[in-house]
Amino acid sequence: MAKALYLEDSYLKECDATVVSVKEGKYVVLDQTIFYPKGGGQPWDTGQMLNQNETYNVVYVGKFSGEISHEVDRAGLKEGDKVHCILNWERRYKLMRSHTAAHVFASLLCTETGALVTGNQLEEDKIRFDFSLEKFDREILETYINKANELFKKDIPVKWYELPREEALKIPGVIKMAEAYPPDIPKLRIVEIVGVDKQADGGTHVKNLKEVGQIKLLKMENKGKNNRRVYFTLE
Ligand SMILES: [Zn+2]
Repeated sequence: MAKALYLEDSYLKECDATVVSVKEGKYVVLDQTIFYPKGGGQPWDTGQMLNQNETYNVVYVGKFSGEISHEVDRAGLKEGDKVHCILNWERRYKLMRSHTAAHVFASLLCTETGALVTGNQLEEDKIRFDFSLEKFDREILETYINKANELFKKDIPVKWYELPREEALKIPGVIKMAEAYPPDIPKLRIVEIVGVDKQADGGTHVKNLKEVGQIKLLKMENKGKNNRRVYFTLE
């Protein structure tokens, strides 16, 4: 199983790795990787793998049967090759800022209104949230966006660490997604925004709320009581 370097250090922009296997010429498994695979509402990373004088563009990264697979744009890599990986950092950093912003917004909204998150998806330029909420109007959403923006002006650290499953599941609100339950593994990764939120999560985040910047409401859609949909974006 490839070592997922992004789980410990989400600020790694480059790494060396060895090709473990290649399927159909373009699906590459490495011994370790900085590329985040699509999952948990966070899109995949893009970037490059360099081998000798050749450049392979990483166009998609997914997890298949527990293994991280990198799709490159052309054939040529083979088992045992040494590669140097370079992340498209601009894209990833935006996703890190968005992901942390999403946790803050969800935490404020869920704690204060009892809303449950029913879906969420980060995109490169916007963040989508679905939740169940009785009363749904622009004013309420703006209130929580303003509260979140106040927090993004503060020096508040974000930390991530593992906890034994039983201990983790005792944290109030550690799972905000309705009907979602973490996989049956002995340890859960917790992302803690100090004093604001603790959430079981496998995504990449910024280290301090100040890095998020500010967010603004883009649009809202009403898809029924259990699917109030809101889009916001980083400014
Ligand atoms: Zn998350």
